[in-house]
Amino acid sequence: MATDYDAPRKTDDDSESIEALKERVPDKLSGTVGDEDADNPSGFELPGADLSDLELDVVVLPPQEDEFTCSECFLVKHRTQIDHDSAHGAVCIECAA
Ligand SMILES: [Zn+2]
Repeated sequence: MATDYDAPRKTDDDSESIEALKERVPDKLSGTVGDEDADNPSGFELPGADLSDLELDVVVLPPQEDEFTCSECFLVKHRTQIDHDSAHGAVCIECAA
């Protein structure tokens, strides 16, 4: 009798744990669980760290002293490429042409 009772109990435990997992997934997706979220941030930091690494590689330097930003095409060009200064700023030779 003891063995007969034990067999169905195992299946009950399995289905219970699966249902518990199923209930957790939608909770995480809706983002309403406070305690679970506190443990999760480490998973979100990895892609964030990757992005900051990419940003460091693509740092945009401000115009150097011998460079200017064209007010027409907004490209940074060498000072020798200035055609004239307009009311909005320097205009490069290509834009003035
Ligand atoms: Zn230009």
